[in-house]
Amino acid sequence: MRKNIVAGNWKMNMDYEQGVSLFSEIVNMVKDEVRGNQEVVVCSPFIHLPALAKLSAPVANVAIGAQNIHQAESGAFTGEISASQVKSTGASYVILGHSERRAYFGETDELLAEKVDAALKHYLKPIFCIGETKEERESGSFFDIIKTQLSKGLFHLSPEAFKSVVLAYEPVWAIGTGLTASPEQAQEVHAFIRKTIAEKYGETIADDTTILYGGSANPSNAQSLFSQPDIDGGLIGGASLKSRDFLQIISVFN
Ligand code: PGA
Repeated sequence: MRKNIVAGNWKMNMDYEQGVSLFSEIVNMVKDEVRGNQEVVVCSPFIHLPALAKLSAPVANVAIGAQNIHQAESGAFTGEISASQVKSTGASYVILGHSERRAYFGETDELLAEKVDAALKHYLKPIFCIGETKEERESGSFFDIIKTQLSKGLFHLSPEAFKSVVLAYEPVWAIGTGLTASPEQAQEVHAFIRKTIAEKYGETIADDTTILYGGSANPSNAQSLFSQPDIDGGLIGGASLKSRDFLQIISVFN
């Protein structure tokens, strides 16, 4: 049975103290709430990871992740952070392919495939983001776009390796805009993603893959989104920065 996951993406927010204090609140609030099949993940800036790892270690089903890695093992890449460095902090996830990285840092599907390999080599689970822009939605080409992102970024993986990947469908037009995909729009794409995975890896792996929705998810719309059959939780940006909102979203699964 696939996992339900609520993952926070703090992006470039929170100084060190603020991040530690927000995460402490989250851990205290969720520690008795998160059930066997559910996981809460917080993807913070790199600076917080070692401190958050200590706070999350005693709590089952709460994990932490990074928001990016470099694809190389180590070496002369000033300012970059490798998968093994992230892993050594105690993190177990990494967001890859976020639309902000694709748009502002020129990350291509080919580069992302390398980053996915680097993550998996060091036992970091990718939360791999895919999604169409507003123009692609309006022109109707979004299914093709999503299929290409999946196949170029992930379909080189063996079935065994693919099992460690979490997908996040994040329509670019819904990220940070207050515009949310309707539950029906999101479900349509999630079902398409699962079908595309089934064609490549078979029904069992597709059924076991967690597919998150991201893009202006908040306490008011989480219930209607997460109750769709192919939506297994959310990747939450803005609303993960407020402990109450984040907890309300998490509590949808209880
Ligand atoms: P948002 O961001 O919830 O603020 O729209 C989601 C994301 O970018 O992962």
